[in-house]
Amino acid sequence: MIWNPTKECMNAEDKRRLQGERLRKAVDRVYHGVPFYRNKLQERDLRPDSISSIDDITKLPFTTKQDLRDNYPYGLFAVPMSEIIRLHASSGTTGNPTVVGYTRRDLAIWSEMIARCLSAYGADRNDIFSVAYGYGLFTGGLGLHYGVEHLGATVIPMSSGNTAKHIQLIRDFGATALACTPSYALYLAETMAKTGWPRDDFKLRIGIFGAEPWTENMRKEIEAKMGVNAYNIYGLSEIMGPGVSHECECKCGSHIIDDHFYAEVIDPETLEPLPYGEVGELVLTTLTKEGLPMIRYRTKDLCSLNPEPCECGRTSIRMSRIMGRSDDMLIIRGVNVFPSQIESVILELEEFEPHYMIYVDRQNNLDMMEVHVEVRDGFYSDEIKVMMELKKKLAARLHSVLGINADIKLVEPYTLERSEGKSKRVIDRRVLK
Ligand code: ADP
Ligand code: ZN
Repeated sequence: MIWNPTKECMNAEDKRRLQGERLRKAVDRVYHGVPFYRNKLQERDLRPDSISSIDDITKLPFTTKQDLRDNYPYGLFAVPMSEIIRLHASSGTTGNPTVVGYTRRDLAIWSEMIARCLSAYGADRNDIFSVAYGYGLFTGGLGLHYGVEHLGATVIPMSSGNTAKHIQLIRDFGATALACTPSYALYLAETMAKTGWPRDDFKLRIGIFGAEPWTENMRKEIEAKMGVNAYNIYGLSEIMGPGVSHECECKCGSHIIDDHFYAEVIDPETLEPLPYGEVGELVLTTLTKEGLPMIRYRTKDLCSLNPEPCECGRTSIRMSRIMGRSDDMLIIRGVNVFPSQIESVILELEEFEPHYMIYVDRQNNLDMMEVHVEVRDGFYSDEIKVMMELKKKLAARLHSVLGINADIKLVEPYTLERSEGKSKRVIDRRVLK
């Protein structure tokens, strides 16, 4: 079902007009409400009335995570604190947390956005959702929670952790939908299998996974192990939280909620906008946010955009999967390597579990990459020869995809640490001199 057809299926011209009007209001809001933006705009001789259409967005300055840190905690808020009714903080994957604030209207919009996402996944008020993102400062838990309520479905506020109990409640409460990180979904699936309870005891049919990069192969793996239809959800706290974009039944890119967020993809070096289809850094502008409006926020997330209307009937612009963050790209012996490439290779081969760790070291001034991978039950062997063959196979495949050699360490099933929230897969021990 399409939750809000007026907005989700708007024709291109009307959408652009709406975005243009909203951008102008957003610029007006920051010009008058946020000294940081007023200074930046004045430096460029820009005023709210410099915006006459959405195309004028390229005149505007970028905002970075550093700007949020420099104005910590509330410097970029555009309303007095009396109008802020909730705070969240980003999980700090890449440094100190940043604080984000929401007005009552922001929270209402966020809930409606999530209801749109959940409808696109085929959920309705008869569904029972287990929300296993962390509740708290992280936007995942409460973000999904209020969206499920807005949809009119039932929410089980599970939060993350306590896996055995969680599985029991999924079964006992007849949960039909599960929201968590893809890495946690795998762990749950694995633990479910170990309970020995028949698959029919579980009613799960929809999985809502995001907050960290994942691949098509990982989707297949989760779908097979858990018996759900797995969908991607994307978002970031600086812009709102989860629900900035979502997949639909076509699973061919994620629809950006583009009546509230305007998306561009830029070359992270030259900062010039890139044509549709090319991979670059996603830049998002909030068109309606009151508490913490963001103008051309550089997400560091790498993806491409597709403006073609989708078979599902939605006309909103779609983004590809996130290929990685521009700042989590590893440069190993001069070669660019994304952890997601390594994950894809591991998942292509049936002998391995999608559990791995990447260690990077520098020995004698040479970068060394070591990949620890779990061998799947049934493929693990005490025979050295068998394991050597397996190692060779993976090393050769990694070499052909990445163009560099990696040392492989095969480990027994269920020995690598599982994550309950965002997984950490790379440990870079290089000391940069
Ligand atoms: P932090 O930057 O501290 O991790 P957030 O908790 O707001 O802050 O996380 C947002 C980031 O999580 C995004 O910028 C993106 O890198 C990642 N992310 C969120 N959803 C997805 C997704 N579906 N696919 C890939 N990456 C995602
Ligand atoms: Zn669609």
